[in-house]
Amino acid sequence: MGLIRKRFLNGDHIYGCSQCATHLAPKDGIMSTAFQGQNGRAYLFRAVVNIIEGPAQERPMTTGKHVVCDIECMECHQVVGWRYIKAYEESQRYKEGRFILEKKLLTLLS
Ligand SMILES: [Zn+2]
Repeated sequence: MGLIRKRFLNGDHIYGCSQCATHLAPKDGIMSTAFQGQNGRAYLFRAVVNIIEGPAQERPMTTGKHVVCDIECMECHQVVGWRYIKAYEESQRYKEGRFILEKKLLTLLS
């Protein structure tokens, strides 16, 4: 097993974990801001770093059934959102492999 190192993102607008400010994703990696999380507004991101994925599970959502896994901050282990592994509806396939981060659990670092 290798040592897991935190990655630092470069750029002006980086979203970090609200608890420990670990870098998670650049603002320009947002694909959509029109998502709903457990705690209100959530964003769909192309890619997220410094997270640990939980086990895959099937979850019914307003847009249909999906297979997702929760993602937690690798530093403080706060669950910050989830990753879409599989969408059953053709129209929802664009979310596969993408990440949801909940706005309330993020802090915008400059
Ligand atoms: Zn954290």
